[in-house]
Amino acid sequence: MLSYRHAFHAGNPADCLKHAALVFCLAYLARKETPFFCADTHAGAGLYALDEGFAALNREWEQGIGRLYAAEKQNAPGQILPAMLRRYLELVTGSAAPLLTAPVLPSASTKPAPYPGSPEIIRRMLRSRDTAVCFELHPGDFAALDTLLRRDRRITVRQEDGFGGLLGFLPPPCRRGLILIDPPYEVKDDYHLLPETLSRAFKRFSTGTYIVWYPLMRSSPAPELPLELTALCTSCGPRGSYCRVELYTAPPDAPPLNSPRGMYGSGLVIRNPPWTLKAALEAALPYLAEIFSGDWLLQWEEA
Ligand code: SAM
Repeated sequence: MLSYRHAFHAGNPADCLKHAALVFCLAYLARKETPFFCADTHAGAGLYALDEGFAALNREWEQGIGRLYAAEKQNAPGQILPAMLRRYLELVTGSAAPLLTAPVLPSASTKPAPYPGSPEIIRRMLRSRDTAVCFELHPGDFAALDTLLRRDRRITVRQEDGFGGLLGFLPPPCRRGLILIDPPYEVKDDYHLLPETLSRAFKRFSTGTYIVWYPLMRSSPAPELPLELTALCTSCGPRGSYCRVELYTAPPDAPPLNSPRGMYGSGLVIRNPPWTLKAALEAALPYLAEIFSGDWLLQWEEA
């Protein structure tokens, strides 16, 4: 069953957290001259128009990137945009993004610029010597992704299961890399395949940075997943550092009516995070929690 379409959710608060972390970790990898590899196991369509189609139905982006952009523009006293969020906003809206012609939250007369999903963010951050692979199963989203990326020789695009496909790319020959695992969790299988894939991936490529996204929902098996993921970080392969990051956008017992499957927030488990990420998150999370009227959690464990 492939009913999930990321276009409904593009640019929402969960995307802001996930994509800000992705931009930070890729920028850290790019600090060294040596090439890196990036895998995006559940890539989506890559670029999303915000004013038409699915994204225009629930307008989730207005609660996410729209609020962030507005907060940055208002520049309220004592509300300096943390560096991690500035870098993310610049990548999404700024001059580093050749596809964008207007800020994402426009004045009434301009069109909102398309919002970049993870594969487009990765494309914008790769250098000429870096490589990436993106997996997407949905035929419609795959066609859009393929059209967006197929002329880029650094990036391989596959219409394949990302859990299975990832392992064939590990370890990458350059031995430096980032793996983003962002399943839709629309089928229960995702909850089994994710830990299975991670435990094999950690053994094959123990030094890689892994970013795993998960939804916060009260219904099982979602509540058990974060602990299962953090346990894997310590039990599979050589022990690495990891962090667990959560952003709550509603109380658990009162998710917004339009929230998909009763989601009250989202989280990331990041294995082998850059050491500089801790301070960056400590600044970014309170800012995000404030503009999303929510709360946050950061658990940081050193190897
Ligand atoms: N990573 C994207 C981003 O941040 O912009 C969003 C991805 S969305 C949450 C999940 C995507 O995974 C959907 O487009 C869905 O069609 C796709 N998908 C679902 N199961 C898959 C699988 N086993 N392998 C690859 N893609 C899958």
